[in-house]
Amino acid sequence: MEKLDMLYEGKAKKVFKTADENLFIVEYKDDATAFNGIKKGSIIGKGVINNKMTNIVFKYLEENGVETHLVEELSDRATLVKKVSIVPLEVIIRNVAAGSFSKKFGVEEGTALLNPILEFSYKNDELGDPMINDMQILAIGLAKKEELISISEQALRINELLKAYFIEKGIKLIDFKIEFGRCGDKIILADEVSPDTCRLWDVETNEKLDKDRFRRDLGGVEEAYEEVWRRITSK
Ligand code: ADP
Ligand code: UDP
Repeated sequence: MEKLDMLYEGKAKKVFKTADENLFIVEYKDDATAFNGIKKGSIIGKGVINNKMTNIVFKYLEENGVETHLVEELSDRATLVKKVSIVPLEVIIRNVAAGSFSKKFGVEEGTALLNPILEFSYKNDELGDPMINDMQILAIGLAKKEELISISEQALRINELLKAYFIEKGIKLIDFKIEFGRCGDKIILADEVSPDTCRLWDVETNEKLDKDRFRRDLGGVEEAYEEVWRRITSK
């Protein structure tokens, strides 16, 4: 399958039409941004790792009954996916306090949470992706009630599956962001799961193996992505 017109260029990926109106090609870039696009840079090799890692993770989720947009990996950076209409929500799940949650609620980063937290941001760059609750989502029509129930149930199940997956690799899943899309009458998992969109800490040392190394200028950014990739693909 070949790339046709580019439909959209985002911060981390490009989306192309294909000859099949139900399929898109996503192409992963090395570009990195943080703080709503204010900090810009690149992480060499990230596009390849995020593409391949997302596909491995999505295959694992599919094997465990989660439907995803994955069709076929086409190359190191490009994947054929089902075209979906993205629900404009960043679905965030947290197991351990970190990032904006720690800041907002004064809970020290690294504090285990007594239950997983599901939160939503309205995916809207102009507004800076504000946090939004379920009543607000329904009130402004971003999703229907049944859709929100499906998204919430799937997100919590995906969290359980991913926690178990990463711990096997010596990685603690601190928090992550996923996106869902409408495909026919279903809501399926789309976009990506990668060190760009997850906080991943070494289980022994709590070393950060994710995009926080870029956001916070911690150094060893490329090495962290490579380490996650090495752990995912070894044995
Ligand atoms: P952003 O838009 O935040 O800059 P990206 O650079 O990752 O993000 O761009 C990829 C875009 O493609 C995102 O807006 C994402 O919601 C969208 N997307 C991901 N998977 C699909 C899909 N299967 N069909 C349609 N759009 C998708
Ligand atoms: N996240 C993301 N894209 C965003 C915002 C957050 O992938 O636009 C991920 C982020 O990598 C982390 C989780 O969502 O794994 C929770 O992020 P948080 O709300 O703490 O925001 P941040 O501290 O990243 O601003």
